[in-house]
Amino acid sequence: MNTLVINTGSSSIKYQFIDMPFGTVLCTGLVERIGEEKGIITHRKLIEGENLDVVYDENIATHEIGMERVASLLTDSHYGVITNTSDVKLVGHRVVLGGEKFSTTSIITSEVKSTIEKLSVIAPLHNPPNLTGIHVAEQIFTDALQVAVFDTSFHHTLPDYAYRYALPDHFYTEHDMRVYGFHGTSHQYVTGRAAIMLKKNVDDINLITIHLGNGASITAVKNGKSIDTSMGMTPTPGLVMGTRVGDIDPGVLIYMQESLGINIKEIKRIINKESGLKGLTGFNDVRLIQELYLKGDQKAELALNLYSYRIKKYIGSYLAIIGNVDAIVFTAGVGENSDIIRKMATDNLSHLGIQLSEELNTSKSKIERDISSETAKIKTFVIPTNEEFEIARQAYDIFTKQDIF
Ligand code: AMP
Repeated sequence: MNTLVINTGSSSIKYQFIDMPFGTVLCTGLVERIGEEKGIITHRKLIEGENLDVVYDENIATHEIGMERVASLLTDSHYGVITNTSDVKLVGHRVVLGGEKFSTTSIITSEVKSTIEKLSVIAPLHNPPNLTGIHVAEQIFTDALQVAVFDTSFHHTLPDYAYRYALPDHFYTEHDMRVYGFHGTSHQYVTGRAAIMLKKNVDDINLITIHLGNGASITAVKNGKSIDTSMGMTPTPGLVMGTRVGDIDPGVLIYMQESLGINIKEIKRIINKESGLKGLTGFNDVRLIQELYLKGDQKAELALNLYSYRIKKYIGSYLAIIGNVDAIVFTAGVGENSDIIRKMATDNLSHLGIQLSEELNTSKSKIERDISSETAKIKTFVIPTNEEFEIARQAYDIFTKQDIF
């Protein structure tokens, strides 16, 4: 079935056209710099191993124009794979925050849209563009079932003692302030793949899934369900990230405001855009920092130590709350590619059952793999994430359960 997966950002539309349930990716693309003088459209058609690439450099004033360009590329006789926009039967939208109301993937109704809008106060950078993507897709792909796949839904199984903050009660009851968690589609995807690798039912596996991209989060998975996660009501806390600070004493932020006179808007920018690896080294790309580290750069060494130390602290605490763990899973840009980070984050954990094989960890591969030593009680896997496929899978699942189709 022709399924379009859409991830709409404030100035971008990322898309994949997938044949479900097979998961065959037929087209991928990115519309960038919407609203700027010069926009960029990068489109790729993948057929039988052959890639057909095209890049356009043109003004894209609005998301609607951007989505129309996506539609015209998908229906193009050379670069496209369908003849009409009505050939798209299913659109899966990534929506960052579904709140408590939408704990699972949902067919988009006016109620879903108004909830996404209401939750924009908590996710101001993500929910509004996600909603724009839904509105324009509804206008263009009129024959398709539109489905919202929430980044937060995998974490709806967190117990109250994990998702509540120890703030006065009314901040939760009246203002919905709690841990929601993010990167849920990625944690859920690798959980499903890990079950296959372990040859077990997903409901019978316990994992620690570690998503290390530019944003980073770690999740405790018990019996296939998320029971704790490092991001919170916002994506700022937890692990050290490319530009986000991760866990920090809230008193530090108060000090910045009260004693250093930095206003709250600027503090927000600093902790989200100027901190993490960028704050420590000037760079947010782990590849560059690793190069500097290997040349003996001290700032790079501190940054990688801090980054991996934080991961290790979370691994320890999640081992305590989960009980018997079958595997830890590294995923996303850093987790999939950096043997240095994987080694630093798991070093000296053999007493807890975690030990990597030096050879397997350092061998280059793009496929999912077991990198643990033969004696390790807990497996260590590297599983490339595939959030687009997970969105398509969940959207397809809901589509097939519809009586009307
Ligand atoms: P993501 O957000 O999942 O696309 O991950 C992006 C990040 O992955 C980049 O900013 C890099 O820091 C990191 N990354 C990508 N390739 C490598 C690599 N070969 N080695 C180390 N880090 C990498």
